[in-house]
Amino acid sequence: MKIHHVGIAVESLRAAVPVFEKLLGAAAGSEETVEDQKVRVAAFRVGESRLELLEATAADSPIAGFIAKRGPGIHHLTLTVPNLDDALRRLERDGMRLIDREPRRGAGNERIAFVHPSSTAGVLIELVEEK
Ligand code: ZN
Repeated sequence: MKIHHVGIAVESLRAAVPVFEKLLGAAAGSEETVEDQKVRVAAFRVGESRLELLEATAADSPIAGFIAKRGPGIHHLTLTVPNLDDALRRLERDGMRLIDREPRRGAGNERIAFVHPSSTAGVLIELVEEK
């Protein structure tokens, strides 16, 4: 497994992107809206991984809910798996609570699924299938 990206909930991309540009000494890639999750994403490449800044595009976006409850900050950690269907079946068999029992489409049209933080030590885990 590899760390694919870390998702960071921000109140405003306009405010947060320059902060990470200073921090990383690099410009963000092009921004993308993921309709399914009601977020706008700006990504920074960091080695083989990336940081994704996530801004809510609607009041009922999961990111808006997260910020309302816990404030801005690290939202989820994403791991790459070779086969997402196999990974989901294995985790379910091992008693993990899945948010997505079937894969859905994430940023860049990748196949993704979320595992509930109640079964992963409080960390929301996203799985993405290796291309
Ligand atoms: Zn993500």
